[in-house]
Amino acid sequence: MEEKIGKILLCREEIQKRVAELGEEITRDYKGKNLLVVAILKGAVPFMADLIREIKTPLKYDFMAVSSYGASTHSSGVVRIMKDLERSVEDVHILIVEDIIDTGLTLKYLKENLVARNPLSIKVATLLDKPDRRKADVVPEYNGFTIPDEFVVGYGLDFDEQYRNLPYVGILKPEAYLSEG
Ligand code: 5GP
Ligand code: MG
Ligand code: MG
Repeated sequence: MEEKIGKILLCREEIQKRVAELGEEITRDYKGKNLLVVAILKGAVPFMADLIREIKTPLKYDFMAVSSYGASTHSSGVVRIMKDLERSVEDVHILIVEDIIDTGLTLKYLKENLVARNPLSIKVATLLDKPDRRKADVVPEYNGFTIPDEFVVGYGLDFDEQYRNLPYVGILKPEAYLSEG
């Protein structure tokens, strides 16, 4: 698996340090507030698991899964909810946790969908932001790292469902796209 990684973009320690900083910031901003962390399956799972342990104020968490129609490496903006939240959100402040924002179309859809449910507030925490290909006007309140327009894997991010378990974020060698296995 690791021999398919051409370059490590963010190592384990860098990620850990940044996640701790984000956790501190979120702790400050949500002290005394009813916080619901909503992680978007599956990519956000490692980030969310590390982030919540750096948030030192009470919270609940839940998950949503969405699937976008179209090619696997590109988002079409047409989104279907595959798994929804368990409860109403009218009395909570929602923090959406995402792995990466690329075109922003997925997040735009999600935010609109959640706004319609009347939560107290909605903000977004993303591990990675790839602003070069942005199509929808969404800006994360909490961003781990801004990265160039490269297809990255690891720390939750997949190529064909693989590589999610890498503890770092890296760029695949082209041969990993061209041949399977
Ligand atoms: P958006 O709707 O912002 O274009 O796409 C968001 C989703 O596309 C992400 O949650 C992720 O699943 C996928 N995606 C976008 N860029 C990358 C990338 O560089 N690597 C991986 N593995 N997935 C990506
Ligand atoms: Mg995602
Ligand atoms: Mg994916």
